[in-house]
Order: sequence, then C-alpha cells, then structure tokens
Amino acid sequence: ERAVSEDELTVVYQPIVALEDCRAVTLEALVRWKHPERGLVPPGEFIAFAEETGAVVQIGEIVLERVAEQAAAVGVPIHVNVCAPELTEPGFLGRVDDLVARHGLSPDLLVFEVTERLFVAEDPAPVAVLEGLNERGMRVAVDDFGTGYSSLAYLSRLPVDTMKIPKQFIDELMGGREHHSLARAVIELGAALDLTVVAEGIEHPDQIAALRAFGCELGQGYYYGLPTDAHVALRRVELLREGARTLS
Ligand code: C2E
Ligand code: MG
Ligand code: MG
Repeated sequence: ERAVSEDELTVVYQPIVALEDCRAVTLEALVRWKHPERGLVPPGEFIAFAEETGAVVQIGEIVLERVAEQAAAVGVPIHVNVCAPELTEPGFLGRVDDLVARHGLSPDLLVFEVTERLFVAEDPAPVAVLEGLNERGMRVAVDDFGTGYSSLAYLSRLPVDTMKIPKQFIDELMGGREHHSLARAVIELGAALDLTVVAEGIEHPDQIAALRAFGCELGQGYYYGLPTDAHVALRRVELLREGARTLS
C-alpha cells in the first residue's frame, strides 16, 4: 500500500523477439518496487501478498496506465501481467476502455497475460472479462503454460491466442536430446490449438536453435536483454540484430 501511496512503483520492459531474425515483436511489462531501503524489489516478493490483501488492484491500475503511455510512445504491442482479482474488480473493462480512448491506442497494442492458475478453478467470472478484452480486439496470453493443472478441453475453448512456455522447460534444452520432450510437446500442443507460442527465459543461443527446429517462432530472455526502459530494450535488440547480420 505504501508503494502505491508513495509512488514507489516502476515498470521495466523485456523484448519478445522473432527467433528467426531477432526482430522485436512486442514487449512485456514487469513491475518493480523502488523500496527506499531495500532497493529494487522484484514482483515475486510482493505480488502474491498484494493479491491476498487486494492491493494488487491498485498496483495493476498504475502498471496499466504506464503501459498504455509506453505503448502509445513506442507503437509496439505491450504484454501486461494481470491476475484474477484485477480482472474481476468491478469496472475493469470500463477502465481499459477509458485508457485506450485517452491514449488513442489501437487495441492490438495491449496483450493481457494470465497464468494458467487462473483457469484451474474454471471460474467463469475472470474468463468473461477476458472475453470482453478479446471482443475489443485485445489479445490474451497464457503465462507459464504447463505448470498449472488446467484442463486442456477447457483451455481450448478460452479466448486465448498466445501460450508462453516457462523458463524451466527452456532450461532443459541445454541438456541432451532426451530432455527436450517437454518444450517440444508444449510447442506442438500450441500449434495444434492454433496459438502463438513464446518461449520464456532464453539465455543461450543453443536454445534458440532447438526452439526453431521444433517450430517455435517467438522468444524472450536475458539473451535478448534484461528488463529495462522500453526504448533501451528495443534499441538493444536492434543492435543484436545488426550484429547478427554483419556476422552472417
Ligand atoms: P512472468 O510474467 O512469467 O515473467 C517472467 C519472469 O522471468 C520475469 O521476472 C523476468 O524478469 C524473468 N526473466 C526473463 N527472462 C529471463 C531469463 O533469461 N533468465 C531468468 N533467470 N529470468 C528471466 P520478474 O520480473 O521478477 O516477474 C516475476 C513474475 O511476477 C512474472 O512472471 C509475473 O507473473 C509477475 N508480475 C510481474 N509484473 C507484474 C504485474 O505488473 N502485475 C502482476 N499481477 N504480476 C506481475
Ligand atoms: Mg508474464
Ligand atoms: Mg512466465
């Protein structure tokens, strides 16, 4: 609550790139708490707690405002992480409409990421809000796919068009071929469900080769840049791309 009242939240951006030619396709917004004593606190240390207290609703409003501003400034779609209490807060869709109108945003510049956890209970309330976003032309991505226990039959009926493969599956791409099966299975499932697949947590070029061989087209990770200022993130990917072109 103090992070909100004292204006201590900041948002950083990580590029999501086309694995084939290292072109930045979108950015993902990630919140940070600029704590006066503890320094930059990552969301893993406060989001779950803020979900319990309800403070996540105000945090999400601040993040969305910054994201809309940035998306209008850079003209690149931005992914924003949202959880169930934010979606089911009365007036959520109205606030999104207001944001889009105020910033003159094209709706395809906003992509909402929800974790698979949201679907486990098969609660219709947050899903109805996701449908509302979808009807407005905004996209929905399932984050950390394969770490929850949602039913595939249920998932295939949701208004989702992107699936993100968690870092733990991507890490396995550094082992022998026998370790590749989970990432490969998720990529194939995504293709079967006609979803865009994004690999998360890419740190090494060998992982890119394996992902491309399995048909995964998009990825993000420290290899392409740590989360930072949106313009800096896009510029760094552009430099990486120019470097790759010069070498080939
Ligand atoms: P996520 O959405 O799955 O985000 C990916 C996390 O992996 C981010 O951690 C990112 O900094 C980190 N990451 C990206 N590439 C690499 C890599 O190559 N190696 C390693 N080791 N890590 C990498 P972060 O920023 O600490 O965020 C953690 C989680 O907090 C996010 O997971 C998301 O679920 C949640 N979160 C972040 N921002 C928000 C927000 O504004 N609202 C809500 N509700 N949740 C948020
Ligand atoms: Mg995410
Ligand atoms: Mg993730």
